[in-house]
Amino acid sequence: MAYRHYWIDGERIDLPVGKAVCAGLNYALHVQEMNSKAPEAEPVLFIKPASAMRSLGEPVSIPEDKGSVHHELEIAVLIGHKLCNATDVESKQAVSGIGLALDLTLRDIQKQLKEAGRPWEKAKAFDGSCPISHFVPMGQCPPLDRLSIRLDINGECRQQGNSRDMLFSIPQLLQAISRYFTLEPGDIVLTGTPAGVGPLVSGDALMLSLDSLLEIETRVL
Ligand code: ZN
Repeated sequence: MAYRHYWIDGERIDLPVGKAVCAGLNYALHVQEMNSKAPEAEPVLFIKPASAMRSLGEPVSIPEDKGSVHHELEIAVLIGHKLCNATDVESKQAVSGIGLALDLTLRDIQKQLKEAGRPWEKAKAFDGSCPISHFVPMGQCPPLDRLSIRLDINGECRQQGNSRDMLFSIPQLLQAISRYFTLEPGDIVLTGTPAGVGPLVSGDALMLSLDSLLEIETRVL
């Protein structure tokens, strides 16, 4: 089993690499660009398995034979305490760290599957579909509803967002998720992408940032 280093309550510990539970359509402008309909009572959820995880410290590898691969820059939440049917308070207390993730998406395949009315796991949960950064301990982060993220590709800003614009806030997402999927320490929650998604191509230079807390430069292999 693979392990990663995490910061939990100020202490560095190793946790098994768990699952990533991801929210779709969580920013109004992204819902618009996808010509989709905003979720109402509950968020749209899907899962990426441990085999999807990669480190953003390494170049991003994308499939070459599966059509277009889109970048979706997202705020990633590291879970420090088990959550099952969680309350609002429990949800907030379970957030141990904040990081960045790319929810890589096989957009052509996703479109085909959606049109056929089939589940779209293949487009979202494939090997390497979840490059993630290290996590900034919660104590060093701004409030959960004031986190800003940005993705530049080849020197040009492509995606920019702030958690205050989420349709479901981070605590609301954790509560909703924990009604269906128990979140274990070491699991990660991807909180949806702001507008500006688009294709990645080999050689692209990426710069990802989370406020002034994290700045990651990498490239597409
Ligand atoms: Zn996404």
